[in-house]
Amino acid sequence: EEYGKLLSGSDIAEKIQTSLCDQVQKFKLHHSCFTPQLAIVQVGARKDSNTYIRMKMKAAEKIGIIATHFCLPSTTNQTELLKTISHLNLNPSVHGIIVQMPLDSANMIDSTLITDSVIPNKDVDGLNTINQGKLAVGDLASGFLPCTPNGCMELIRRTGILIEGSKAVVVGRSKIVGTPTAELLKWHNATVTICHSKTKNLPEVIADADILVVGIGQPNMVKGDWIKPGAVVIDCGINSLPDTKRSTGYRLVGDVDFEKARKRASWITPVPGGVGPMTVTMLMKNTVFAALKSTLGNKV
Ligand code: NDP
Repeated sequence: EEYGKLLSGSDIAEKIQTSLCDQVQKFKLHHSCFTPQLAIVQVGARKDSNTYIRMKMKAAEKIGIIATHFCLPSTTNQTELLKTISHLNLNPSVHGIIVQMPLDSANMIDSTLITDSVIPNKDVDGLNTINQGKLAVGDLASGFLPCTPNGCMELIRRTGILIEGSKAVVVGRSKIVGTPTAELLKWHNATVTICHSKTKNLPEVIADADILVVGIGQPNMVKGDWIKPGAVVIDCGINSLPDTKRSTGYRLVGDVDFEKARKRASWITPVPGGVGPMTVTMLMKNTVFAALKSTLGNKV
């Protein structure tokens, strides 16, 4: 068996984006008014959020999705934010709505309330309670799948590994990454172990994994020699470390010690260029799907 093959999210994302673009163009031939539209709502101006939004806007443009960025000042309160979302919910030309998290507001805003205020059929982030509930009980078709987990699944599928019956370990149990990724693996018939900050003997648990997905936000925490030889390793972490050799002054690393892990994994995602571009692409896929659904009803 060959070890250390690079699972390039950038390359796969590029291919999926090209095919989404084709799909939009073809659909336009028969429905000339068809233009998928995504609303991106931001409160404040966090630098990392600005970067993520820029990447989303760029991908949307490439595919033929109109992405509109609603920049609300950091003085925005909860009522005002809910009002903005409610307008977008009611606007029939808007097919997808995302609220960029974390909110950068001077006021107390309940972020779960905000995520849940997006109407489920426009919740292209797949993060509201209705869509998360569907996923938890195995309905993977009628709602929207969350973007990072769906991107991870797509990466795993491309390796050709048999997911059914495999042992999968997910490290991290957040609402955005760990929990929905574990649900997806579970419904693809892997046997899933979920780890978190209270897990004992993490290295031993990880050593059993045929498929390892890590999303913890701890730079290089998962060591190379914990990994089962031949495992597929998906690293969701995006951590910036100071680096004086770079003009930016920092570099991005994942949650897995990439160089050492690479020697044991069959396939491994790099950071950057792994899960990140897949997340953006799955958001675009959900938006195109939302637009198709609103045009065709439930015939999609
Ligand atoms: P959270 O901080 O919300 O969750 C982190 C999870 O990891 C928690 O469940 C926590 O456990 C667990 N954890 C933390 N430290 C350890 C440890 N030492 N051992 C075991 N488990 C631990 O983070 P997110 O899920 O939002 O993000 C995780 C990472 O993924 C970050 O680096 C983030 O930047 C990145 N990310 C990347 C995206 C992409 O598009 N590629 C999208 C979203 C996030 P507990 O529950 O016990 O606290």
